[in-house]
Amino acid sequence: MSGERREKSRRIGALRALWPFLKPHRGLAIGWLVFLGVSSGASLLLPVAVRHIIDKGFLASNLATINGTFLGLFGVAVVLALATAGRYYCIALLGERSLASLRTSLYRHVIGLDVGFYESTRVGELTSRLGTDTEVVQTLVGSGISVALRSAVMLIGAAVAMAWTSPRLAGLTALVIPAVMLPILIFGRRVQKLSRHSQDRIADAAAVANETLNAAQAVKAYNREPIESRRYGDAIALALATARRRIGMRSLLTAAVIVLIFGAITLVLWAGARDVIRGDLAPGVLSQFVLYAIFAAGSVAGLSEVWGDVLRAAGAMERIGELFAEEPVIRTPEAPEPLPVPVTGALRFDHVEFRYPSRPDVAALSDFTLGIAPGETVALVGPSGAGKSTVFSLLLRFHDPKSGAIRFDGVDLRALALPDLRGAIALVPQETVIFGGSAADNIRFGRESATNDEVREAARLAEADGFLSALPEGYDAALGERGVRLSGGQKQRIAIARAILRDAPLLLLDEATSALDAQSEAAIQQALERLEKGRTTLVIAHRLATVQRADRIVVMEAGRIVAQGTHEELLAQNGLYAELARLQFVA
Ligand code: ADP
Repeated sequence: MSGERREKSRRIGALRALWPFLKPHRGLAIGWLVFLGVSSGASLLLPVAVRHIIDKGFLASNLATINGTFLGLFGVAVVLALATAGRYYCIALLGERSLASLRTSLYRHVIGLDVGFYESTRVGELTSRLGTDTEVVQTLVGSGISVALRSAVMLIGAAVAMAWTSPRLAGLTALVIPAVMLPILIFGRRVQKLSRHSQDRIADAAAVANETLNAAQAVKAYNREPIESRRYGDAIALALATARRRIGMRSLLTAAVIVLIFGAITLVLWAGARDVIRGDLAPGVLSQFVLYAIFAAGSVAGLSEVWGDVLRAAGAMERIGELFAEEPVIRTPEAPEPLPVPVTGALRFDHVEFRYPSRPDVAALSDFTLGIAPGETVALVGPSGAGKSTVFSLLLRFHDPKSGAIRFDGVDLRALALPDLRGAIALVPQETVIFGGSAADNIRFGRESATNDEVREAARLAEADGFLSALPEGYDAALGERGVRLSGGQKQRIAIARAILRDAPLLLLDEATSALDAQSEAAIQQALERLEKGRTTLVIAHRLATVQRADRIVVMEAGRIVAQGTHEELLAQNGLYAELARLQFVA
């Protein structure tokens, strides 16, 4: 029990992390407070006007007082309307603005995290935090806090006004409050628990839909539409059943709240009415008191309603806070060394040892020592799992070696500024990612500042100009999910065009394993030959043409170098390489 309470207060404490995003919009918050004060004051004035009308107008049959008071009443209503509008404007805008800064800085933080972080986190979870969790927080800032504070101010105001209007009746009210609140609190707790259950069931159903819709092709190929529909239907039915219990409980709660609150008000009113008959209380004062009591009851209802929002937002903020707490390990050092100008592209691995954090038992690279001269093309060959891709990951500093060092132009990678290092590398991955956007934008991914002519020239050298020009909208054609789908060979040529635009001294090339049609194959080999010229190139080779073109072949197995040489030399040794060559190379 106390543990749960501590848990709750810890979660509410998570909301403090919101402050940096609210602080820049202090002006709006102050404006909101001012409008809140004015509107609450105006609300509390209304019952005073009512009393005036009854006691000084009706009972004294004074038409002039009635006229004056009604005019005043209308004036107060106008002030109330304007202040309410201003209050809404300030708080809603505050919610939107702080949400925008929260989202932007969360994205900036997350995209800056290490590759290692992405290897251990599901991207779906990240997008959900960026989307849903920030939205929950916005609901709190944009309306929850507003309702809560307004209710609190009104509750205090109404309570003070009640005591001021009639201390006797106020005292009586204070006596009946616990009898009213206790059942409400108990019911409310159960509703809250049920609503958490129902949220969880909805998330389960969403997970089922997400999984199967993303694999629609597999579902269809195996005729599983009816089965999956039933599975989703079952999940939804479960969510519905939970929701029904929640709704039932909530209906009961509503009925209980109305009966108890109105019962209490009726009781107090009844006592007041007897006072009026006895002549101890003016009728107007009783009306005024009842209005304050209604305000107070409404505020209590408002407070209990937003309490759930507050808890939900605290939970969301806690998850967001965990993301903010993640720190990249791999960063630019305090005083980075510059790369020599011009960069020659010499590479050196010195006794590099590396294990993936998620697989500490296996050495992905061990005692890996290799020197590569400027301009040299080295092909990495080896069975899958030998560590070839790991060599690339370490060069790009996605991870740092456990021991040993990698030097680029004589400088340890860890001493370089990250943008300098990665800026000196062009990567052609095995699977090219095409982004939503035009063909030209996709090539410009290699260098954002490239002109249209440079983009075209790169595409021409990458043998991509032909198929791009043939598209109905040419280089402006939209690619990716919502646009033209490119074939595997075409995507690779886009990747080569990016690398050409990048014009970096070090080229990392991960050859596609899948076979291409002969025409694509010839075009790609030609484009690569141009790209490799004059740069240090490391290529994970899967093709005969590539190993034959390489200056040197490095054969890897289980994280170690087991042989080096040219294609002919290695074949003559009749070792692992000869075997791989027979099985692996797509001729
Ligand atoms: P290759 O590119 O030669 O197929 P890799 O460099 O991908 O080999 O893998 C080398 C070793 O590291 C393998 O044992 C592989 O299972 C492991 N490995 C690769 N990537 C990861 C990763 N992200 N997390 C954990 N282990 C990995």
